[in-house]
Order: sequence, then C-alpha cells, then structure tokens
Amino acid sequence: MRRRIVAGNWKMNTTYAEAMELVDGLKASLTEEVVGETGVIITPPALYLSDVVGALVDNEYIAVAAQNVHEKDSGAYTGEISAPMLASMDLDAVIIGHSERRQYFGETNESCKVKIEQSLNNELAAIYCIGETLEERKSGAFMDIILKQCAEGLEGFIAEDMDNIILAYEPVWAIGTGEVATPEQAQEVHAGIRAWLTERFDAETAENVTVLYGGSCKPGNAAELFAQPDIDGGLIGGASLKAEDFTAIIAARTNA
Ligand code: PEP
Repeated sequence: MRRRIVAGNWKMNTTYAEAMELVDGLKASLTEEVVGETGVIITPPALYLSDVVGALVDNEYIAVAAQNVHEKDSGAYTGEISAPMLASMDLDAVIIGHSERRQYFGETNESCKVKIEQSLNNELAAIYCIGETLEERKSGAFMDIILKQCAEGLEGFIAEDMDNIILAYEPVWAIGTGEVATPEQAQEVHAGIRAWLTERFDAETAENVTVLYGGSCKPGNAAELFAQPDIDGGLIGGASLKAEDFTAIIAARTNA
C-alpha cells in the first residue's frame, strides 16, 4: 500500500526559538482529523534536530528527518554528519540530492546513491530528490534527465530497498520561485517515474513507491496536485515554515 506523505524542508531557516515555536504550532494543529493516514515529516536544520526529536517524543504524527548526510560512517570530514550519528539521535529519514545540494555543493547521482545506501544501512528512510532545470525542461529532454537521476541514484538497489526510499520529483524551476508545475505536468512526470520503476523493479514495487511533488506547493494548489493519481504527497519548502500553511497542505493530502 502506497504511503501518502507530506514532508517539510525547512532548509537554512529559523532561529532556535522560531524552530521550537513552529514545532509547538504543528503539535497543536496536527490533530487526528487533519493527519488521518498521511505521513508527516519535518526536516529542521541539523543543529536543532536533537531538541526537535525530544519535543516530539510523545507525538504520534510527526516524524523527523535530516536535510543531508555524509557518505562515510565517521572520520576526518570536518563539519559533516554521518548516518550512524543521525540514527543515534532517533531520526527517521534523510533528504538526499535536493537540487540546492546538487547546485551549490556538487552532489551527483553517484554521491546520492552512496548516501541512500548509508541511510538504509542505518535504518533511516531516504527521500531522494530528482528534477530538471528550466533549461532541461525547455530542451524537451527533461524525462531522460529525470530517469537518469533515478537510474544512477538507485543503481544496485533491490525491490525490497524501495520500501525505505521515497522519491521526490522537484522541478528546479518551480522551487522557491512561486512557479508551480501544473497538475498535468507533474502527473506526466510521476507516471513516467512509475513506468520506469515497473521496468527497473516490478509492477508491485512501482505501485507501492511513494512519489512526492515539490516546487511552490501551497495551500491554494495542493489539493489539485494531490488529486493526480501518481502524486502521493508533497515535499514542501517555504510553506512548511508556517504551521498554518503546512497544516492546510497536510489536510489537503488527507482529504484528496
Ligand atoms: C523544496 O525546496 O524542496 C521546495 C519544494 O521548496 P518550495 O516549496 O519553497 O518551492
């Protein structure tokens, strides 16, 4: 059974006080009625993860993820955080290959593959981000690029691994720009990814993998995106920083 998920990527935002206030706001607004069967994940800045996990210890709805993980277990990698470290802090998941990390920190499909391996080896779910730039969309070759990201990032994994890998289709041109993919554009890509999963693994696996959409998803457009048959939820940036907006997006997923 495919999981419906709404994940919030806080990126490099919030002071400590703002982060804890946001967590408190979400704890108050995410009732059983709002959440239903929707899986909710938040990804605060790494510095606050420990306190956020602590603040949510008695909360049954909100899982906590990191925004990045290093390829190695430990060692002389100043400033980095490893999967065993994240696992030891009771985290649930990690975002891997976000387009900002690809663009500003040189992440490649190959490094993402290693990071996904590290996550799974440490019982952390991986949220693997893929998506084309504006130039790639305009060129018409965007599906080839997205499927290459899938093929290289997921190289070597077997069908069972996909139980712990969530895919997030995030057209780079829609991230933080206010320009959202139309439901039809997003559905076309999601269906293409699912067809690829069928070929690469099998039909059952393809049916069960959660594929999220990300890119200027807001309370006002979430419902129409989530109504698409292959869009299982969202990876939300800006709108995840306001408890009210994030809650409304979760409600849209629950009620779709
Ligand atoms: C993101 O960065 O993953 C994202 C989807 O951002 P935004 O919702 O702000 O476009």
